[in-house]
Amino acid sequence: MAEYDYVIVGAGSAGCVLANRLTAAGRHRVLLLEAGGSDRSPWIQVPIGYGRTFAHPRYNWMYEAEPDPTLANRRAYWPRGKVLGGSSAINAMVYVRGQPADFDDWRAAGNPGWAWSEVLPYFKKLEDHVWGADEFHGAGGPVHVADVSAQVHPLCETFITTCGNLRIRRTRDFNGADFEAAGLWQLTVRNGIRVSAASAYLRPALRRHNLEVQTHAHATRVLFEAGTASRRAQR
Ligand SMILES: Cc1cc2nc3c(=O)[nH]c(=O)nc-3n(C[C@H](O)[C@H](O)[C@H](O)COP(=O)(O)OP(=O)(O)OC[C@H]3O[C@@H](n4cnc5c(N)ncnc54)[C@H](O)[C@@H]3O)c2cc1C
Repeated sequence: MAEYDYVIVGAGSAGCVLANRLTAAGRHRVLLLEAGGSDRSPWIQVPIGYGRTFAHPRYNWMYEAEPDPTLANRRAYWPRGKVLGGSSAINAMVYVRGQPADFDDWRAAGNPGWAWSEVLPYFKKLEDHVWGADEFHGAGGPVHVADVSAQVHPLCETFITTCGNLRIRRTRDFNGADFEAAGLWQLTVRNGIRVSAASAYLRPALRRHNLEVQTHAHATRVLFEAGTASRRAQR
């Protein structure tokens, strides 16, 4: 049986980044297991496919929450990606980072490394922002961030202008200095194609000899022998 230094369960946002990072130095053998299949589908690559994958059993776990008494016992629909890229392959591509104060709260609660000033360099590192590098953004990273303000429906402008009439400030950038305002999202899209964790992080790493990816591999349990995981997922 093949041996690996690391087995990652789930090729979603986290798993794809981890697979890339752990194989970058070439010193470790990594196995990435994904319950879903390939992301080579126009429904995933083309942004409008969001409407299709939102409830498609091939790409989506399509969870249902328990009946909620506060919703007259209705069950909420909880989509989650089941495909290379995970939920980043089926999400709405909106690029909005957490608020600086939230990160600072986490740091203050006793989590070293989570202050806004400490995480911002990593946000910048992942970005290839269409506006280029500045105080809040990075350029040349794996995730392309697009400004689609020139292409939105005129109603969007009407809405934001109306917000202004209600004294809600307008912002050009929810990821900049002024985020408590009305404005237009930036999207993780490049030339009309979705940027997922699979396209940004996994695909470049697939060239490496020390990474193996298995799709349709649903891990159901992990067995340990002498402190080492010893069996793979059932296929
Ligand atoms: C419909 C939708 C719209 C969204 N819109 C946005 C948005 O516009 N902007 C934004 O920032 N965020 C959005 N999100 C949220 C964002 O995509 C997720 O928070 C993020 O992708 C989660 O990353 P993750 O690594 O935690 O999990 P996921 O990306 O969901 O990855 C988990 C992966 O693990 C696999 N897996 C799970 N269990 C097993 C197992 N036992 N064995 C093998 N594989 C397994 C799954 O199939 C999946 O591929 C959206 C999410 C959804 C579902």
